[in-house]
Amino acid sequence: MRYLEIVSFVKDPEYDWPGLCQRLGQTFRMTVQLTWPTLDLEFAYNPARGQYLSTAMLSKLLEIRNPAATKSLGITDLDLFIPILTYVFGEAQLGGTVAVVSGHRLRPSFYGLPDDRDLRQERLIKEAVHELGHTFGLLHCPNQLCVLASSTYAENIDNKGTEFCAHCQGLINDALANPQTWPRP
Ligand SMILES: [Zn+2]
Ligand SMILES: [Zn+2]
Repeated sequence: MRYLEIVSFVKDPEYDWPGLCQRLGQTFRMTVQLTWPTLDLEFAYNPARGQYLSTAMLSKLLEIRNPAATKSLGITDLDLFIPILTYVFGEAQLGGTVAVVSGHRLRPSFYGLPDDRDLRQERLIKEAVHELGHTFGLLHCPNQLCVLASSTYAENIDNKGTEFCAHCQGLINDALANPQTWPRP
């Protein structure tokens, strides 16, 4: 049985976790299981930057994930980075099994705006679908409305949809129909 494992490092009750699970389950046509491991994420901390290395989070996810899961998505509220960028909303193993997204910069309050629970939930869904799309081997999409369009700023996330464009949806359908083509770690 294929299933998506959501590994949440966030205890934030403000997120609609059942809503997120339902949405991702529909999009990727899988059962979704949410786990809340107790794990100190300080191993990924970079004191010089005051941020957390998302690539280190992916490595840790590969270690702690349930090997029976088809894909594993980590969710954190920590500010993530990769060395060549100021920050990232998330990172994924292209064509692999793990991805991570952060809610840190998805909160309107990060930009000095009043918090908006629905907006950050919507952003979290988009970024989760986006990063999981990468785990199915999909690259960034030039269609700015497609959930696989790359997003530099939160506004870019808001301007795109929660769905794949027809082209990307076709690639996802092919990937879901041919699990033997899914690379294993
Ligand atoms: Zn991307
Ligand atoms: Zn697309």
